[in-house]
Amino acid sequence: MDFAAFAERADELEAEEADLATVGLVAGALADADGDLDVVARFLQGRVFPGWDTRKLAVGPSLCHEAIARAAGTNVTADDVEDRLADTGEIGAVAASYDFGGQTGLAAFGAGGAEGNGGIPAGADGADDATGGTDLTVREVFESFERVAAAEGAGSEDVRRDVLFGLFNRASPAEAKYLARLVLGEMRVGVGGGTVRDAVAEAFLGADVTTPVEDRPEGDDADELVAAVEAALQVTNNFGRVAELAREEGVDGLRDVSLEVGRPVRAMLAQAGTVTGALAEWDEAAVETKYDGARVQLHYDGEEASVYSRNMEDVTDALPELVEHAETHLAVPAIVDGEAVAVGEDGEPLPFQEILRRFRRKHDVDRLREEVTVELRAFDCLHADGEDLLDAPLTERYARLSDALAEGVSELLVTTDPERIEAVEAKALAAGHEGIMLKNPDSTYSPGKRGRNWLKRKPDVETLDLVVTGAEWGEGRRANYLGTFLLSARNGDASGRSPDARETGSRKGFETIGKVATGITDEQLAELTELLEPHVVREEGTDVEIRPEVVFEVGYEEIQASPTYSSGYALRFPRFVEVRTDKDPADADSLERVERLADAQ
Ligand code: AMP
Repeated sequence: MDFAAFAERADELEAEEADLATVGLVAGALADADGDLDVVARFLQGRVFPGWDTRKLAVGPSLCHEAIARAAGTNVTADDVEDRLADTGEIGAVAASYDFGGQTGLAAFGAGGAEGNGGIPAGADGADDATGGTDLTVREVFESFERVAAAEGAGSEDVRRDVLFGLFNRASPAEAKYLARLVLGEMRVGVGGGTVRDAVAEAFLGADVTTPVEDRPEGDDADELVAAVEAALQVTNNFGRVAELAREEGVDGLRDVSLEVGRPVRAMLAQAGTVTGALAEWDEAAVETKYDGARVQLHYDGEEASVYSRNMEDVTDALPELVEHAETHLAVPAIVDGEAVAVGEDGEPLPFQEILRRFRRKHDVDRLREEVTVELRAFDCLHADGEDLLDAPLTERYARLSDALAEGVSELLVTTDPERIEAVEAKALAAGHEGIMLKNPDSTYSPGKRGRNWLKRKPDVETLDLVVTGAEWGEGRRANYLGTFLLSARNGDASGRSPDARETGSRKGFETIGKVATGITDEQLAELTELLEPHVVREEGTDVEIRPEVVFEVGYEEIQASPTYSSGYALRFPRFVEVRTDKDPADADSLERVERLADAQ
C-alpha cells in the first residue's frame, strides 16, 4: 500500500466521529492492505512493532524535530519546528506545514553523504506526482523504522536522525503528518485495539459489526466472530498476524492459534477493590499475598528459560537466579506468571527499589547478585506441558502451576470467610508485604486487562471527599464530555451551604486543591457530564465553572504544599474513586482535614 493511500485513510478516520463508521473505515483499509496487512493493522493504532516484539523506535521529540527541520530546508531549524509546535500543539500539523522539497543537495550532503537519505533508494523527492502523493510505501516506512530501532551504540543517534530525515525528505505534507505522528507514537485518529479487532471480524470473517446491535438479525454471529478475534489477539499479542490469519484461514485459523514459549504475553492486571465487594460479587474469593516486587513472566521450553518484564521486555540476562529457578524446578515446558522479589539475608522482603536495582541491569550482574538476592513468587500459569491455560479457571491454573513448579509458588487460599481473608492480610502485612490480592477463583486469564477479576487490596489509604467546582471540556472525540474536574475542599467554618455559594455559583467557602482526570472510564465520563452539566454556571473556552453540588471521593498518593491552588495544597496522582451521592458539599472534607493529613504524611 502506498503511504499516501494510508495517509488518506488516516485523514478519513480522523474526521469520522461515529464508532461504527470508524470500524467500517478501518475494515476498508485492512481489506485493501494486501501484502502490508500486518503493518497497516498496527500503524492505524500508532504502533510500529507487534506487542510481543521488544524493539522500540527510541526517538524522542527533539530528534524527530531535527529530522523534520533538516528535511524542510537549509533555513529551517529544530527551534522553528518547536515554535510551530507551540502554536499548533500537534506534531502532525507541524510536519504537514512544511514543503519538503527533496533536500538531496546540501542538507543531505551535510547529513553525511550516502547515509543522508537514510539508505532509501534515490530518485524520490518530495511530492512528485500530480496528486501530491509520492512513491513511498507503507512497507518502506516500516523497514525504515526497523533500521531506526536497530541502530545501536556510538553514532546510533545520527543513524536514527538520518533515516528519519530520509523519510521526511520524500514525504508529501499529507504523508509527513502521519510519519511524524507514527514516529512519536501518537496517531490520534481514534483507532484503538478494539476497533481493529472489530474491523478484522468485519473485513475477513463476514461479521456485520457496523450494523447497530439492535438492528442485527436474530442469530447473528458477529459477537462470536469478534470474540474469536479477541481470543487470538490475547494469545498472539500480534494484530498483524491475527489479521492475516483471519484473512487467510478464517475463524478456524484463529481458533487454532496457541501461545508460544518465548513470546511474552501481556500481563493480566488488577484494580483496587475491597473484601466485601469481592465476596459480594463472587461468593468465594481466592486470596494471596501481594508482593512488592516486579512482575515477571517466565518462559521455559524444557531446556532453557527466558524472563520478561511486565512491559514484555526481555530481562533474562539481568535475572540469572530466575532462569536457574525455572530450569531447576520446572518439570515441564511452561509459561509462568509471578513477581520477582528482592530478599534480605534472612529471607525477609526488601523494598521494591532493591529489585529495580537488579531488573534492567546489563553490567555487573554477578556482583549485584551478591548484594541483592532475587526470588520468584509464582502465582499463575498460562501454559503447561503443551497446553494453553488462558481459558481455564484460576483454581485450575493454580493447580497446574503447583504440579509443574516444585518451588517458589505463592500460597493461595480460596474461601468465603472474610475473617480468614483478614487473617491472611494481617499475616502478609506483618511479614512486610504490601497487602493482599483478591481474585475471582472462576476467572480466566485476560492478558493486558485491568478487569474486576483481580483486585488489589492494600491497607486503606485515606481518600478525600471533595467538591467539584469546575471542569474542562474534553478534546476531539471527547469534546462532548467534561473530562478534567477541578476539586475543592470546604474551607474552615464555611458550611458550604452558604446561600452565596449555592446560588451565585461563587466558590465561596471552597478552596481548590487539584484536578482529577484519571480513574474515569468513558462510560463514567458520560454519566459525570450528565450529572454536572445542570450545575454549570459559567463557561470560558473549554473551562467550566460549576456550582458546588457534587462530591467526589478521590484517592491520591500524597498531599503537597503548592501555590497552584487556592488551598495552598495539591494532590499528587489524584484518582477518581466514586461520586458520593450520599454526601452534600457541606459534608465534604475540610481544608483542616487536608492540613492534618498533609502533616501526618
Ligand atoms: P499494582 O502494580 O499496584 O497495580 O498491582 C498489581 C501488581 O501487583 C501486579 O502487576 C503484580 O506485579 C503485583 N503482584 C504482587 N503480588 C501479586 C499476586 N499475588 N498476584 C498478582 N499480582 C501480584
